Amino acid sequence: MSVLELFESMDYGPAPEAAEPALQWLAQRQPFDLFINNRRVKPTSGQYLETINPATGKVLAQVAAGNAADVEAAVAAARRAFPGWSKTPGHVRARYLYAIARHVQKHARLLAVLETLNNGKPIRETRDIDIPLVARHFYYHAGWAQLMESELAGYEPLGVVGQIIPWNFPLLMLAWKVAPALAMGNTVVLKPARYTPLTALKFAEIVEEIGLPPGVVNIVTGEAGQVGEALVRHPDVNKIAFTGSTEVGRAIRRATAGSGKRLSLELGGKSPFIVFDDADLDSVVEGVVDAIWFNQGQVCCAGSRLLVQENIAERLIAKVRVRMEKLRVGDPLDKAIDIGAIVSEAQLREINRLVERGLEEGAQLWQPSTACPREGYFFPPTLFTNVAPAMTIAQVEIFGPVLVTMTFRTPEEAVALANNTRYGLAASVWSENINLALDVAARLKAGTVWINATNLFDASCGFGGYRESGFGREGGREGLYEYLRPRWEGSGARAGRRRGLAEAPAESKAHTGNGHEGNGSNGVALAGSEVFADLAGRIPPIDRTPKLFIGGKQVRPDSGYSLPVRDPQGMIIGQVGAGNRKDIRNAVEAAHAARAWSGASAHQRAQVLFYIAENLAAREQEFALRLVQQTGRAYAEAAAEVQAAIARLFSYAAWCDKFEGTIHRPPLRGMVLAVREPVGVIGIACPDEFPLLGFLSLVAPALAMGNTLVVIPSPQAPLSATDCYQVFETSDVPAGAVNIVTGEREPLVQVLAEHEDVEAVWYFGSAEGSGRVELAAASNMKRTWVNYGRPRDWLDPLQGEGEEFLREATQVKNIWVPYGE
Ligand code: NAD
Ligand code: MN
Repeated sequence: MSVLELFESMDYGPAPEAAEPALQWLAQRQPFDLFINNRRVKPTSGQYLETINPATGKVLAQVAAGNAADVEAAVAAARRAFPGWSKTPGHVRARYLYAIARHVQKHARLLAVLETLNNGKPIRETRDIDIPLVARHFYYHAGWAQLMESELAGYEPLGVVGQIIPWNFPLLMLAWKVAPALAMGNTVVLKPARYTPLTALKFAEIVEEIGLPPGVVNIVTGEAGQVGEALVRHPDVNKIAFTGSTEVGRAIRRATAGSGKRLSLELGGKSPFIVFDDADLDSVVEGVVDAIWFNQGQVCCAGSRLLVQENIAERLIAKVRVRMEKLRVGDPLDKAIDIGAIVSEAQLREINRLVERGLEEGAQLWQPSTACPREGYFFPPTLFTNVAPAMTIAQVEIFGPVLVTMTFRTPEEAVALANNTRYGLAASVWSENINLALDVAARLKAGTVWINATNLFDASCGFGGYRESGFGREGGREGLYEYLRPRWEGSGARAGRRRGLAEAPAESKAHTGNGHEGNGSNGVALAGSEVFADLAGRIPPIDRTPKLFIGGKQVRPDSGYSLPVRDPQGMIIGQVGAGNRKDIRNAVEAAHAARAWSGASAHQRAQVLFYIAENLAAREQEFALRLVQQTGRAYAEAAAEVQAAIARLFSYAAWCDKFEGTIHRPPLRGMVLAVREPVGVIGIACPDEFPLLGFLSLVAPALAMGNTLVVIPSPQAPLSATDCYQVFETSDVPAGAVNIVTGEREPLVQVLAEHEDVEAVWYFGSAEGSGRVELAAASNMKRTWVNYGRPRDWLDPLQGEGEEFLREATQVKNIWVPYGE
């Protein structure tokens, strides 16, 4: 071909990256065994699975087929390594993580080629995005290991962590999981995806090279049904960190329910890409390419729904088509290729199936005229127009290079359309009007929002979902808590001793009396306490039949029945409404109707909490007497509980405008606003210990952070909560922000846990009840916070208040705002 001919066509010549070094590496090592205790271990089954190159369909290597016995060995290795690793000083752990980062960089080329061979994604992406981000993740978390002792004092690692990752970013997902786990002192058993184990096995070599202590990282390859399930079920695993489909995430939520295992789930998405008519359309077109054709669209946060303002839709679509004609589909090792191979034949079939479905449902398909390679698993970039919001292709995650477009007229319509999905992983907003863009960003239900950008990631910026996209965050400071627990929780001895507190006046009396002693939450001398102390247990019952509290009104229970409330001697001291399913439903509806509370300023919310405290203080003696009556405790102790409750309300009034977000500075010109948002409607089942303090310790942080609530008070001692109706009514708590349904805890909380319009459930009851809540919550993947039957010492500020509560009451949204023309 002459220079002139080349110039005429302006075609790229092939620019392949050499595969030989990687193929040689594979040839020398395969078949690959399991990696346990820094040793290659033959799989118990004696069997190996083929792993292929999706760009050719040819076998790359044989990889061990692990099973439950192998998981057993790996977990045992991780368990043995845990005491040593968790006690290794942060600085030393930082050095190991730093060494991993350095070695990832040293082997960057081999890793990039291996990843491309095994996954089919373009070498340009593995070389410039995947592998550099892997290194960045280990550097960033080396820093957190270094700072853990000072910055995260009061927290400790969880133990052995089971990590299960998908095939779309094999090494990057490994890094997202392994780096924070190790930084915080946990040990790991990792299961790579069935299709893409090779870079994880190269990572095992790095682990060996840098001399990481044996057992800290173990890698078990194999089938999901063998390795994945065994890991999820293993009783000696303290946490499962999972990234994958919502379907499997839900199964894991169910399988781990009640086991006490911590869980974080990074699941699927159907993310909106919203274009307003004042956007810079040339940038938008490049954004669309990155949103849906990056990694063949096999990206959890892919901008797979293009939502365009009606008046520019035609123009934009035309431009997108022109650009699509220029996309090059082909050999992923070619440096000039834009779109590589789909990961597997099965995935390709699934994409085809959904595209067929789109056609059947009447959407209009468009594909560029350029051809796809014949060999291997390829799918052309695809655009659907004439799409209705209810169509399958508009709702279901296709996980392929398929874009659907819809139009809107106003920002309100854009937000409604964008949020019309069960997912909530990410969103992009395109507009030159910063007011509009930030306003829309605030209203989107998504864990990450990119403004005039898309698919940007960094270790410093938390990533994770709202709604059925899962819970938990990876990256940033918020991601660290997924691998930590408060230290007091771990020290079983101490919690056990504290358990008796409600019945052991001697100990709690130490908290009362002189103001300078104790924990600061009850440091006020208690006038008249001696007088009432004598009356304890002998006060005549005050007949009280409180109704339910729904939508700011006291309403009769739907059942028309009441339940007796008894004192410790069995004497009836009141009647509360026997709430039922219908009452809970009404309460949830009222809580939704009160969502304006989330828009109240932090200052306003603080004012309301202070006011509740003030009004409670005005009735201190009455509340103390009520506690005496319900629990039979001494007056002084009861009064101390009321004081602690008042102090707690002050704490959360204080936190309202202080538990703020962060500004991240990833390597880009711009900034990332990590905003804390309320979770939504939270259902709360209160503990039996500390009837007033336990109730307010949960209500106050949830309310402070802008949530609206449906609360089930302690069934044993509900009167302290129902006495609060009047306090709430006189404290400017908006109607419906706090709803209270008395009755039996278990059936009522079950309704909350199953309810599709409840975003989170907090449960403080029995171990079995905790399990039931976690199980039921899987239906819409709502967040749960349960106590597995372990009581807290609510008087102890370490256990009874603070950041743990505030974190449970919020979810972080990261808004990326690049700047510059
Ligand atoms: P998948 O759910 O099929 O598999 C994920 C992992 O779980 C694999 O390792 C698989 O072997 C394992 N697994 C499957 N069934 C299991 C079971 N019953 N018990 C234990 N482990 C089991 O997902 P995939 O097809 O590998 O990946 C694509 C999905 O992952 C998409 O839905 C995508 O959105 C999601 N994803 C999410 C994120 C995120 O951060 N939110 C990132 C990447 C991918
Ligand atoms: Mn799958």
